[in-house]
Order: sequence, then structure tokens, then C-alpha cells
Amino acid sequence: MTQNKTWTIEDAERTYGVSSWGGGYFHIGENGNVKVSPDPSNPSMRIDFKAVIDEVSQEGIQFPVVVRFHDVLRSQVVGINEAFNSTISEASYNGEYRGVYPIKVNQMREVVEEIVDAGAPYDFGLEAGSKSELLAVLAYNTNPNSLTILNGYKDEEFIRLSLLGRKLGRKVVVVIEKYSELLMLVRLSKELNIEPIIGLRSKMTAMGKGKWQGSSGERAKFGLTIPEIINSARYLEQEGMAHTLKLLHFHIGSQLTDIRAIKDAVNEGARIYSELHGMGFPLEYVDVGGGLGIDYDGSKSTNDSSRNYSLHEYVADVIYGMKEICDLENVPHPHIVTESGRAITAHHSCVITEIVGEIKADGAMLDTVAAEGEHILLKNIRELLENLSNVTNLQEAYNDASEWKEQAVSAFKLRVISLEELGKIETLYWQIMRQLQLQYRDVEFVPDGLQHLDFSLSSQYLCNFSIFQSAADTWAIDQILPVVPLTGMDQEPDIDCSLVDITCDSDGKIDRFVIDRAIQNIMPIRSLAPNEKAHLGLFLTGAYQDVMGDMHNLFGRLNEVHIFSYDDDPEDFYIEEVVKGSSVEDVLSIMQYHPKTMAIDVKRQIDKQVANGQILPREGVKWTDFYENCLEGYTYLKTE
Ligand SMILES: *Cc1c(COP(=O)(O)O)cnc(C)c1O
Repeated sequence: MTQNKTWTIEDAERTYGVSSWGGGYFHIGENGNVKVSPDPSNPSMRIDFKAVIDEVSQEGIQFPVVVRFHDVLRSQVVGINEAFNSTISEASYNGEYRGVYPIKVNQMREVVEEIVDAGAPYDFGLEAGSKSELLAVLAYNTNPNSLTILNGYKDEEFIRLSLLGRKLGRKVVVVIEKYSELLMLVRLSKELNIEPIIGLRSKMTAMGKGKWQGSSGERAKFGLTIPEIINSARYLEQEGMAHTLKLLHFHIGSQLTDIRAIKDAVNEGARIYSELHGMGFPLEYVDVGGGLGIDYDGSKSTNDSSRNYSLHEYVADVIYGMKEICDLENVPHPHIVTESGRAITAHHSCVITEIVGEIKADGAMLDTVAAEGEHILLKNIRELLENLSNVTNLQEAYNDASEWKEQAVSAFKLRVISLEELGKIETLYWQIMRQLQLQYRDVEFVPDGLQHLDFSLSSQYLCNFSIFQSAADTWAIDQILPVVPLTGMDQEPDIDCSLVDITCDSDGKIDRFVIDRAIQNIMPIRSLAPNEKAHLGLFLTGAYQDVMGDMHNLFGRLNEVHIFSYDDDPEDFYIEEVVKGSSVEDVLSIMQYHPKTMAIDVKRQIDKQVANGQILPREGVKWTDFYENCLEGYTYLKTE
């Protein structure tokens, strides 16, 4: 942190990188607050997060909250469809684009409805990967021209449901993951006399790089090998059903970081498609799966949390790659299906949490004036502090202080020094560390041992939320999600911090941030005045995070506000819907408790104490009401 020039919004932008990961939707405004431009076609519309926070508070909705920007979702759907359509016409590609949204990425009904609605002009469809998802998709994807793609392992009920979809006039494609599914599908479709649409999922040799590379290669969990694909096609031919084989599917992994993997897979898929054509199986669709990445860290690189390509490059590689092989092989251009989920939903939601406390490395200090007969360790460490400004070897001072502190702990355990003396030694130790930190700021080469000082001296800000509920992937797979202050970025940060949540789990923390275009374990932040309220935004949580969270410590689902932009409103938005998060009763019931009975039991115990004279009758009523209100209340900290 340089303190010598005036801090500007550009400095804040460089430090926090909001525009780099914001996907064109998020920026830091001139007033230092994060702003959302939910509709790229209307740049005049800008929603200030401060206004959202104020309205949420006024409505009496407790934090943490999930904020959904429906217009962001719509514009992502339009964006991918327009990108494919324009590239298709530019390339004179003869097939059409028929994308589907895989609902596993975010199954919230409002999200699925918005995607279906925004995608209607493009006949954009849905994908399901389980029986529950299939039941939802059958009810919500009613457009007879859009595809319903069914992946995942299937039982007889699953297949029957897919055939029900055919009866309802839908383009339901059953993608075969396993040879036995094909036998079941053929048997049931003959039994029910309903013609299926069949896809084959190919196990690919093209590998995605990054966290999900296990989705392809020989050990992939899903898909058919080349011999199985050939056998499947021949089996359908024998059964007189060759014409029902319409789609070739592959999916090489999520969050593909390197464009080369996509080119590779398209090439391989196009070859399989062409050969099947040559063998007398004229498939109509090639489904290239999902995997379109999100630049979570804003680096535009092949980092696990980034990607080295744009939407337009991705689309161009799919369309031109497919066209090149098909033209070479003299087969028709297939319709192109994608199953991008992450890329469609990640930006549309974020979590707003409040900072509710600070855990300081060197919080409390004792008075350390020299006393008669004090222990030599205490004397040594005080003298080190007193002479620190003359010390040239910072490393040596650091080593001495650390060693004496360690010795002090041993001495305390051996009953050589008192608790009070140990407290004073710790106080002096942290004062030395603070001063060393100041001194080495002006030094060109920081010695090894001192490089961790910024981290060890930084505060931990306690935030009212649970990592396990709201940002599962930061814990499970070290995914980076951007976290930034939502207001006050016009002022220069003066301290460093990492973040911890309110679960009783030491894994409930965030200590990887993208700061100054690098991954760091602390984030600069403005220190808070006592009782000052500050809100942080955890961004890009719309894909997977929204729906994968668990109830660790019985922290439940978050309150949600659904925001629509509205040009005629002074703040450019209105809250269209509030979805209440879990109550304590809800989460207890899931764990098999009976909250109503519990309330009666506790009331009975209170009544007994009233009868015993331990509690006044009037207080007894209050305690009873209080217990019941807490059961009905929110699972997170109440801060108002
Ligand atoms: C998970 C999954 C997707 C979605 O992948 P994204 O990386 O979110 O686009 C698509 N297709 C299949 C088969 C999947 O399993």
C-alpha cells in the first residue's frame, strides 16, 4: 500500500479488479460503491449496491442475502444465442444452434423460468441429469421446438418419463451413457409404441485441463467407448430403429480453462459424427456439452479460476471447427447443441454479507513498564523493542523476538514465569512485529522470515454467513470467487484482512483474493469505525454455489431478493420478489426434530421453574415467547 499519492477510483479498480471479472455487469462507481449495469443494451441503467442494501434493510430483510439480477440472467441467455447465430451466418454454416441449459447448475424455479422465457425466441431448451431434474424439466420446457436433453444414469422410470415427454410432443433426446440403457430404451419404446430420439455420449480422448479433467479420458465415469458407439448404432439398425439415432454428445469437463481443449474435442467429435454418417447413420445434432468457462480471477489465463478465451472465440472454434471437418468429409453440417450452465448463470447472483467483527492478531495490550525483579526474558524483549529503530539486521531482530517468545511459553509451563509476565512478553512481541513491518516497508529486499508478517499481522474480519452454504467451492476445491467491499472504495484501504465466517469450523474462511492482478492471502480494506456497518459482496455465485450449499452448523438457506431493473425508477430497480430463507424450525425439521413439540417441552420446563419460584410468572411468558420466536427466526446472526 502506498500512502503518498491520492487514491482514485482507478486505484480501487486496479486493486480489486471488479471490471476484470465483472463480465461487463459490475464496476466501481465514482462514489466508490459497486454498481451493476444489468442490461448491456441500456448503459444508462446503473444500480448502486448501496441503494440495494438500503432497500433490503428498510424492508426488514435480514442479512446475509442472495441478490438475483434477473436482467443479467436474461442478457447472458441472449448473448450466447446471438453469438452462435451471428457466427453461423458469418460462416455460412448450414446447421442451426439449439442450446440447452443444464438445470443442475442452478435449479431454482425462478432461474429456470427466466432462462426459458429469455430463450423462447431462440428455442433454447433444458437439460436434466437426474429423475428429479427430469420431472422439473418436463413441466417447464413446454416449447415443442426446443430440445430437452437427458443425461446421467437412468432407470426404467426415467426412460418412461422421457417417453411421456415424446407423447407430449416434445423433442426429448435420451442420451445413452451406458450400453444397458440403450437396451432398456429400445424395449420400453417398443412396449409403449413411442418413438424415442436417441443420442450417444462419447467418451472422449480430448481432455479438459483443470479441476474437472476427469470428465474425459479412459477413466471417465460417463459415455461410450468407440466400440460401444459402433455396437449401439448397429443394434439400433437391427431393431429397425437406426433413424431414431439423431445426436452425438460429448462433455469434456466444466470450467475449461484452455481453448485448445475445446478445439481438440470439437475436432474429435466432428470426426466421429462424419464417420457415423458414412456408415449410414445420418445424425442431425452434435452436442458439444458444457464447459464454457468463467474468468473468476479476471486474469484471462489458463489458471483454474480463469479461461484464456472469450465467448466469441469459443463459438467460432465450435462452428468453424465443425464446418471444416464436415466440408472435408462431405457430410451435412449438423445442428449444434451446447449445454453451458456456468457461463449462463454465474454472474446473475451474489451474496451480500455484513462484517460483524474483527479478530486482531495483536488485539489486547498489557502495560509493560519495567518492574523490580522481573524475569530476564521479559527484560531482553523490552530492550529489543527499545533499540529496534537502530537495528540494521531486521531478520536477526525477528529471530530473537520469536525465540524469546517461544522460550517464554516453555518457561511459563515450567512455572518459571507468571501468567502476567507471559502476557507482557506477548504484548512486546507484537509491538516488535508491528514496528518491523513498518521498517521493512522501506527496504528493497525483504528477508525470507519477514515476508509472512503482513499476513500474521492482518486482521480476520468476521462475516455473517457460512462458506459451506454460500460458497461451497471455495472450501471444497479452492475455487476463487471475487469478494469486495460494496461501498467506500473511494477511500484508500489502510489495513489488510482475511475473512472468516460464523461457522464453528476453522475451514470456514476465505484467504485467497485476487488483489492487484495476483492471488494473495490478504485483502486491503478500509478499517471500520466502532459500530460502523460495512457490507461485502461475494460475486459470481449464480452457478453451482447457489444450490450446492449444505447446512453445516444448521445455517440454512439465505433470504433472497430478486431484482428487476426499471428505467423509470429513481434507483433504476425494484425488488420483484423476496424469497424467505430457512428458519431454524425448517433446518431442525430436516434433521428429524419436532420444533412444535420442543417449544411445548421448553414451556413446560419454564412453567415448572415458575411453580418453583425460580422465574417470575411475567418473565416466564417472555422466555416462552422468546424461545418460540427464535425457532421461527433466521439461522444467521441477528444484527439489528
Ligand atoms: C455439468 C454438466 C454441464 C454443465 O457444465 P458447465 O461447465 O456448467 O457449462 C453440461 N453437460 C453435462 C453433461 C454436465 O454434466
